[in-house]
Amino acid sequence: MKTLEQVRASLKPYPVEVEFPDIRPWKTGNCGVDYVHSFDSGVPGPHVMIMALTHGNEVSGAIAVDAFLRSGLRPRQGRLSLGFGNVEAYHRFDPQDIDATRYLDEDMNRVWLPAKLDSEQQSLELRRARELRPFIDSVDLLLDIHSMHEESAPLMMCGARTKGLEFAATLGVPATVVVDAGHANGRRLRDYADFNDAASRKNALLVETGQHFSQRSRQVALDVAARFLITTQAVSEEDVAAFLSPREPGPQRFLQVTEPVVANSMDFNFVEDFRGLELIARAGTVIARDGDQEIVTPYDNCVLVQPSLRHLSPGVTVVRLAKVLDIPH
Ligand SMILES: [Zn+2]
Repeated sequence: MKTLEQVRASLKPYPVEVEFPDIRPWKTGNCGVDYVHSFDSGVPGPHVMIMALTHGNEVSGAIAVDAFLRSGLRPRQGRLSLGFGNVEAYHRFDPQDIDATRYLDEDMNRVWLPAKLDSEQQSLELRRARELRPFIDSVDLLLDIHSMHEESAPLMMCGARTKGLEFAATLGVPATVVVDAGHANGRRLRDYADFNDAASRKNALLVETGQHFSQRSRQVALDVAARFLITTQAVSEEDVAAFLSPREPGPQRFLQVTEPVVANSMDFNFVEDFRGLELIARAGTVIARDGDQEIVTPYDNCVLVQPSLRHLSPGVTVVRLAKVLDIPH
């Protein structure tokens, strides 16, 4: 039986191309919650928030939030909040063990079920989520910035509701939008409470900017975060011009996640070095082997969303399968 350490050792390591910003100067926030800074314009408008570090080693969001805070960015209307999530895990990042600080006790992007937040359960991530919760309850429009284990084109995860898809389409970046209901093993911040209620005007997006430690991921985080603030009219374009990528966004395509592939064993291997967004033309194509079992694509033109073995364990989702949606523009 392979161990997770052996699995990780067999995978290609990615260089850490970016600097981890020192976020300790942002510890004392101005709204009663550490590492959250909130600015009210005094002009009516939505409460818009950018959240970084829901996963502790996903530095691109921290780079963007740190840059916005240092720039002194303020909203033109409504309220603008900038926050760092799992700061404990971030502070414990180890360049020799880059995958270890996604979280410390449990995945902070699986705890956002009210019943779990209200429960007696204890973990470092639950404690932080409970600190953040009253604040998150006041947010109308949220961008939660993540990055990926593998270098793949950036993705927007817009949730399962039409309002999320429409929000992603209005934003216009990144080029690939993934429509999905989240994960069976817990609830994401993006899917928390009213963000996932079709009847509510609140809305949330989760962006996966690219590989955790790549320069490209950093650029995508800054660009998408800046466009998010322009689209929500929290700021005007000139306020964030320095953070925008010069290239005009192209057309978007939308993928519908149909199912996860969940590993049954530590003897799970993809047949190729998949990195994400590969399109498998024919149904029945073998994409992985899990012990003696062959994993095949269930339909033609099946897209692989975020394949990775870096957190392999029986019961863990190692890739999600998606159909290309035909959405008229
Ligand atoms: Zn993440």
